[in-house]
Amino acid sequence: MIAFLPKELEEFRLKVRKFCETSIEKNAQRWDENEEFPYDSLRALGEEGILGLGIPEEYGGAGTSRIKLVIAIEEVARVDPNSAFIMEVESLFDQTLLLFGNEKQKSILRDVAAGKKIGTFALTEPTGGTDVAGIKSTAKKENGKYYLYGSKYFITNALVASYFIVFAKTAPELKSKGITAFLVEKGTENFNVGPKIHLTGFRGSAIAGLQYNGAPVNEDAIIGKENEGIKVAMAVLERGRVNISSLALGMLQRVYEESVKFANYRKSMENTLVNFQFIQQYLTDMLSDLEASRLMVYNTAMLIDQGQQVGLNAAATKLFVSEALMKHVKNGVEILGGYGYTRGTVMERLARDAHNTTLSLGTSEAMRMVLSKYLKL
Ligand SMILES: Cc1cc2nc3c(=O)[nH]c(=O)nc-3n(C[C@H](O)[C@H](O)[C@H](O)COP(=O)(O)OP(=O)(O)OC[C@H]3O[C@@H](n4cnc5c(N)ncnc54)[C@H](O)[C@@H]3O)c2cc1C
Repeated sequence: MIAFLPKELEEFRLKVRKFCETSIEKNAQRWDENEEFPYDSLRALGEEGILGLGIPEEYGGAGTSRIKLVIAIEEVARVDPNSAFIMEVESLFDQTLLLFGNEKQKSILRDVAAGKKIGTFALTEPTGGTDVAGIKSTAKKENGKYYLYGSKYFITNALVASYFIVFAKTAPELKSKGITAFLVEKGTENFNVGPKIHLTGFRGSAIAGLQYNGAPVNEDAIIGKENEGIKVAMAVLERGRVNISSLALGMLQRVYEESVKFANYRKSMENTLVNFQFIQQYLTDMLSDLEASRLMVYNTAMLIDQGQQVGLNAAATKLFVSEALMKHVKNGVEILGGYGYTRGTVMERLARDAHNTTLSLGTSEAMRMVLSKYLKL
């Protein structure tokens, strides 16, 4: 029970949970096993209005409440982290257009909210993701057009996307102050998607690299202002960290449920596991970190809804929740013994998926770097 969460949001959670359990969960294992993009899940989430969360109604969405969005991501992650990750990255695309895009760019969101079109957020390059200022992509202006040169890597949804937000340097000599964000459409000349990247977890995420060698885009493809791309990237990533934290929260909830279920059923030495103090310690630590994680995620989401700065909260939340998930999924596997290490069990899939939450949208080291800037009285 959360003191500051209105009753209607608890009801909203129950509705999303029921939908996820009936429409998404049954296919999660197959999508993982086959490295299959979950089109059915996306279609169902679009029809249910869940993909439109975070998008204003005037663009076909379900409103901009961040707390609703994080509750939905949490519930989807509880049954299928991969579908929740697709939503989470899609939300980076939506937020970039909503915060910095022009009217024409924002009009794309209608198809995104309905699950008909997919957008990506392409910042990371093969040479590194943490050092954003060090990106090597460039955009050269000639006769009223920009020509993009370079490559990206680890771009989630790239293989199924219609739109790509690509960050490139328009003034390389200005380093981080010379980056610009561009909206690039699929099929643009000299703009290629691939190769597919085969991940340890999140195996249905259609993740790939991008290559562009003189890809032309018009001036109106710029999102925000020329040379202000770092502002765009940082604002979107900062807020986006609460989404990946809610993804980790939903996974942690499932780790706890699977662990408790097994511990209450499995017998050893004429007793059930839940009665052994070693096992109780695993479970009680899980439960208390789960409670703390939920408070942090919801508080940060509500601060965003209030229009507050969340640099500190978002970094602290991501660091805490993703690291808690890493710790407890290891213990979850331990509780399930050999079954936790067997293909086809939920715990095994969660263990493979978990590590992405400490990496995407900034590593744990990067979160500590962000937090170190607040170490002043
Ligand atoms: C499944 C998945 C999906 C992703 N999806 C996207 C996406 O859609 N779009 C996108 O743009 N990116 C995406 N990424 C990329 C992700 O954001 C990067 O992997 C992440 O930022 C780290 O970058 P890197 O992998 O290049 O590691 P590097 O930046 O090379 O870092 C390697 C290691 O060094 C550490 N390190 C680096 N610099 C420092 C420093 N100054 N001080 C201390 N430690 C340091 C890092 O923390 C890390 O431990 C995705 C990644 C994964 C795994």
